[in-house]
Amino acid sequence: MRTLLIAEHDGQHLNEQVARAVTAAQHWQQPVDVLIAGAQPDALAAQLAALQGVNSVLVASDAALQHPTAEHLADIIVPLASAYTVVLAAHSAFSKNLLPRVAALLDVNMLSDVLEIQDGNTYVRGIYAGNVLATVHNQDAIQVLTVRGSKFAIAASGASAEIKAVATPAAPQGSRWVSEAFNKSERPPLTAAKVVVSGGRALGSADAFAQVIAPLADKLHAAIGASRAAVDAGYAPNDLQVGQTGVVVAPELYIAVGISGAIQHAYGMKDSKVVVAINQDPEAQIFKIADYGLVADLFEAVPELTAAL
Ligand code: FAD
Repeated sequence: MRTLLIAEHDGQHLNEQVARAVTAAQHWQQPVDVLIAGAQPDALAAQLAALQGVNSVLVASDAALQHPTAEHLADIIVPLASAYTVVLAAHSAFSKNLLPRVAALLDVNMLSDVLEIQDGNTYVRGIYAGNVLATVHNQDAIQVLTVRGSKFAIAASGASAEIKAVATPAAPQGSRWVSEAFNKSERPPLTAAKVVVSGGRALGSADAFAQVIAPLADKLHAAIGASRAAVDAGYAPNDLQVGQTGVVVAPELYIAVGISGAIQHAYGMKDSKVVVAINQDPEAQIFKIADYGLVADLFEAVPELTAAL
């Protein structure tokens, strides 16, 4: 009766949601082992070992894991899984790629984006873009799930769990990593930022994002987000999209500028601690989820706000 948590990292840093997933993993009150796979993951393994609640850190270290594929990682996890009753990770593009594969190979169900874990392997998760909360019970011998990090507290550090190596099978031949491209930004990453300023279709151009949204974000040391309409129109890059088909954020402060508040957008930001909306339509849906609403033309209100800050 053990729990296996898969740690996401980029070779340099642990994904900030891992420490939250460690808290989620405590639910079953059984030893929690954390697997980290990488080319040189020793320093990150030591960080994991320091998290309270981690029983041991399993290290799969191999040069071929510099850019691991889901296929390769699944080949590491599946042989380990028979010793576990729970295999989980923080919900992200990484785990959405990996854990369905693991679940399929184990011939068990996959539960994604779990918001709450109840007794007896019962889970609450959002469906229909988060508009309905479904309570589901899973009877599989191995529970495979991803958890919404923002719903769980960050595990404290100060512990010193055991670190041990695990076998790394050769990389599968069917697929291989070719390249990856990042948008370089001085701003905090969207999913980790304490403040997010998001712009919508109303901005009307990429220039307006640069001239209206960016200065406000600079003042607040904020990440920039965007609605899908803004992304589809080419006003903002795809990786800034917040929502059901973008990223889910839960910052201390979310400022929605010229965003109507469609359910698919709300899905990605409604867990924010404080939501501020600036929209010229007093009937806009976003005001229903906003803590503070300003009915105004964004092209006047946002520069004024930036200047006042
Ligand atoms: P609009 O709905 O056009 O809203 C623009 C707002 O700006 C309006 O409320 C208007 O009053 C206001 N406005 C206009 N001019 C001004 C001004 N000068 N000053 C102030 N306010 C002004 N959307 C997402 O965002 N993220 C997703 O992940 C996502 N996934 C989707 C998945 C599916 C399957 C589908 C079907 C849709 C998805 N959408 C998503 C799209 C979503 O339904 C909306 O179409 C989109 O969020 C609208 O973006 P918007 O609010 O920027 O634009």
